[in-house]
Amino acid sequence: TKVLLTGGSGFIAAHILDQLLSKGHSVVTTVRSEDKAQKIRDAYPQKSAEELNVLIVPDIAKPDAFDEVVKVPGIEVVLHTASPFHFNFTDPKTELVDPAVNGTVGILRAIARSAPSVRRVVVTSSFAAIVNEAKVSDPNTTFSEASWNPVTLADIHKSQSTAYRASKTLAERAAWDFVADSSSNGAKFDLVTVNPPMVFGPVVHHVFGGLQGVNTSNERIVDLLQGKWKTEIPAVGAAMIWVDVRDVARVHVLAGLERPEAGGKRLFATAGLFSNAEIAEVVRKNFPEYAEILPGPEVTTGGLPPVSKRFAYNNDATTKLLGIDWIPLEKTVIDTVNSLKAYGA
Ligand code: NDP
Repeated sequence: TKVLLTGGSGFIAAHILDQLLSKGHSVVTTVRSEDKAQKIRDAYPQKSAEELNVLIVPDIAKPDAFDEVVKVPGIEVVLHTASPFHFNFTDPKTELVDPAVNGTVGILRAIARSAPSVRRVVVTSSFAAIVNEAKVSDPNTTFSEASWNPVTLADIHKSQSTAYRASKTLAERAAWDFVADSSSNGAKFDLVTVNPPMVFGPVVHHVFGGLQGVNTSNERIVDLLQGKWKTEIPAVGAAMIWVDVRDVARVHVLAGLERPEAGGKRLFATAGLFSNAEIAEVVRKNFPEYAEILPGPEVTTGGLPPVSKRFAYNNDATTKLLGIDWIPLEKTVIDTVNSLKAYGA
């Protein structure tokens, strides 16, 4: 099957690309620069230009960004992962919301117009589009595939994480609105969204730009390995559920290519609760060489809030539909640390 994967240099997308290629699919992937494109091509020297076609899309915020790319003949499935996930922005509207929303609407519009062979589009959304910030400490709230973040554009100056959550929520809403409006825009594909919470896991080496450039969700593990938690482990805040990056990649592959019945669904890809204290404990137990810089047993911060002060979640529908056994935290943390060690962490 020929698959278009946007943002192929990303933390999650690099794993998706790897899984697609190892399953023998042909992939067209987009990155922002020729430098990144060449790194990806070099990583798969055995693949022909037909099997792995790396194209440049410099800015997904431009409404016509994907107009040419979708015209590559024969694309059947699109996995749209590209969207900003970082907190070093000054203007949340132009730097987060516009790339998230315009990128999503732009690719859907381009497919509807010019790529009639596409039957399914998978959009990487987030738990950010599920969570309600006002309810994260409410034990009577259960977040599930049916939950929607009520955030609006008016909220984007509240905090950096609110701005990010708004970008993901508005983008996902726009995607569902687009397919609901197929009679006027001509969309012939169905839509699946993948909604993961904090994603941890090993980095794919050929796209990794060093510890300074680590992706946002793995940053905390780099912080821990650099001794930043020695005297105080930070609280998890609202993001207290997680999933392994290899499972997130697998969910994209399943959703796009192997589970026709996923059409029209939101997939809440979650392995369970975690705390920063638990991550520190796994590292302490498995990597004695870090003992000096890790928080010792006397540091008691960074645990989960008590059950009476935290939300509940339920992703049974997703787990059942996919038939997936989520990778456990200990394995993820061990594999992440091993992958980061190569860079001097
Ligand atoms: P990365 O930062 O590694 O990946 C983001 C990708 O989007 C990169 O390929 C990046 O390109 C691309 N991108 C960002 N902004 C633009 C832009 N303006 N124009 C073109 N490309 C752009 O993070 P992740 O892999 O973690 O994120 C991938 C997706 O997963 C995102 O949609 C994110 O919202 C979502 N997600 C991530 C979670 C996590 O915990 N990691 C949790 C839930 C959802 P470049 O490599 O050139 O920077």
